Amino acid sequence: MLASTDGWTICAQGHRHWGRAGAAGLLLHRDGVHGPELLLQHRAEWSHHGGTWGTPGGALHHGETADDGALREVREELGLTAADVVLGARSVDDHGGWSYTTVLARPARPIEAADLRLDGESTGVAWLPLADLDAVELHPGLAASLSRLRALLEEAHR
Ligand SMILES: [Zn+2]
Repeated sequence: MLASTDGWTICAQGHRHWGRAGAAGLLLHRDGVHGPELLLQHRAEWSHHGGTWGTPGGALHHGETADDGALREVREELGLTAADVVLGARSVDDHGGWSYTTVLARPARPIEAADLRLDGESTGVAWLPLADLDAVELHPGLAASLSRLRALLEEAHR
């Protein structure tokens, strides 16, 4: 039997993170009228950092790659499958003893937020313009990675 990776861990920067094998999320991006748009989820109030907007994702399972973990999480949280997305670049935010991998992806078909089937971990999902992210409260993990992600997104939308 594989060891469970469930549980809280404290990284070298002193944060408390869920998932002892690290975590991964899928950052879907598309061309919008005013530049790139990101599919973000509004986290349920009861969840860690509830009420903030973040990348759909979560703790990795034992032996799971970041790509597989990110795809599993969006299937669980939004009902999207591997056939719905085209994976792109990865960005690793390594905290020391814990890391979060953001997997960029583009929709393989038109994906509208209203069509997604949400589980209980989010109260909403929306395409937010990259240029307007200052107007919403971001999950601290996404906020910390944003400058690196912005460079990758601008590269992908050049
Ligand atoms: Zn940390």
